[in-house]
Amino acid sequence: MTIDTTRTRWLRSPDDARVSNDGPVIYWINRERRIADNWALLHAQHEAIARGTSLRVAFCLVPTFLDATIRQYGFMLRGIEALARDLDAHGIAFDMLLGAAPDVLPAYCERHAPSLLVTDLEPLRIKGQWVNAVRERTAVPFVQVDAHNVVPLWVASPKQEYGAYTLRPKINRLLPTYLTDFPSVVTHPMRSTPERAFDLDAAMASLRVDMTVAEVSAFVPGEAAAHTMLQNFLGRLRTYATDRNDPTKPAQSDLSPYFHYGQLAPQRAALEARNAADADPALRESVDAFLEELIVRRELADNFTYYNPDYDRFEGFHPWAQTTLNKHRADVRDHVYSPDQWERAQTHDVLWNAAQREMVTTGKMHGFMRMYWAKKLLEWTATPDEALAVGIYLNDKYELDGRDPNGYTGVAWSIGGVHDRAWVERPVYGQIRYMNANGCARKFDVKAYIARHTSPSLGL
Ligand SMILES: Cc1cc2nc3c(=O)[nH]c(=O)nc-3n(C[C@H](O)[C@H](O)[C@H](O)COP(=O)(O)OP(=O)(O)OC[C@H]3O[C@@H](n4cnc5c(N)ncnc54)[C@H](O)[C@@H]3O)c2cc1C
Repeated sequence: MTIDTTRTRWLRSPDDARVSNDGPVIYWINRERRIADNWALLHAQHEAIARGTSLRVAFCLVPTFLDATIRQYGFMLRGIEALARDLDAHGIAFDMLLGAAPDVLPAYCERHAPSLLVTDLEPLRIKGQWVNAVRERTAVPFVQVDAHNVVPLWVASPKQEYGAYTLRPKINRLLPTYLTDFPSVVTHPMRSTPERAFDLDAAMASLRVDMTVAEVSAFVPGEAAAHTMLQNFLGRLRTYATDRNDPTKPAQSDLSPYFHYGQLAPQRAALEARNAADADPALRESVDAFLEELIVRRELADNFTYYNPDYDRFEGFHPWAQTTLNKHRADVRDHVYSPDQWERAQTHDVLWNAAQREMVTTGKMHGFMRMYWAKKLLEWTATPDEALAVGIYLNDKYELDGRDPNGYTGVAWSIGGVHDRAWVERPVYGQIRYMNANGCARKFDVKAYIARHTSPSLGL
């Protein structure tokens, strides 16, 4: 079994490698923390079998990461604990290395003298820096696999796209090539054993994160739970077309945490949804709407964060958006809240407060409310730069799916018009699209949503 070579790209080709070993293949697992439907793991195993060597998987655990708390780390590490077990059952060693990859992976490579180093792709700036530093500090052949996007990011487009309307045709044209089923990882013929068994408690003890943001029980971590969640969603897929923008109804898939932590492949969800529509044409409208979000919008977010190094800064907005926001910098705001007031949900707007509480208490704000929530940050914060910073901080700290290309892009869409167009000019917003509570009331039962999220008060 070989995987499509356009999914892979050499970071250092065998011709450029300064060292040639006949040791194991090492997969430095980063974004795609799963055994099933993982093109990077499949590629690593294929290469190991072709070389007649063993396969090892290593994860580098940093003690802090952006604004992640124990809520996000707990979900990630519990998922990794199950992954380590599954890999072991397939004869593949899993090693948890404590520290940033540039600091710990080169020594690991020296210990194991790999014939090939494989990694997956994550567009975030810091992840790219890690990959570059590992490349500089190792000498073996090094290959990267896009195992997240249905259409590999670099194949879909070589540049930052303007919006869904420019990326959509490129992706749709390539779906017949890339939206295919996955082979399975096999029990590896040359077994490897870990340097030491994965120890969840030791991993947890190594963290230096905020322990006060509680883990959430509604989302069970791990690949098995991800597949259960997907099956649950397929069972209620029918309402996605009509109800997904209603935060009082359970129409969204709730799969974003599983995609974010790499516990479920977006391509698996896409295949299953497409199969459901093939079996029951009445589901077609919902499936089309789901695939638009899952593939086009999500891959557009990867495109934005990969090609725009300022994806989380005011300077990352289009020039028209910067111009219009600068023109309205001095506009008088009806309210100006501090970061602390936002965080504690202490605004005059009960709908905004409810959304903030939903995020803080459940770990996942409904998708429609995320737009309203971020728009109001722009309206009632002293500057757009501060609104952007507060939006990213709160999103990354409390959302289980935070620190994701979708999050940076969602905040930039709301506050900086990224992937959107210019609208009628108005105070504070300039030509950035406006949203208000009346618009929400036209779409859903605002009182019911507020009633659901009135307590607790966020003493924090
Ligand atoms: C201000 C703001 C902040 C956001 N923060 C995040 C975040 O931190 N992490 C995150 O994953 N998403 C974020 N989003 C995008 C979107 O709201 C979530 O992906 C979605 O609500 C997740 O819930 P779901 O999986 O049930 O969605 P579903 O409606 O079931 O969608 C299925 C999948 O499609 C993708 N998707 C859906 N909507 C979008 C979108 N607007 N842009 C890109 N991809 C999309 C996601 O991968 C999602 O899991 C944000 C949006 C905004 C406006």
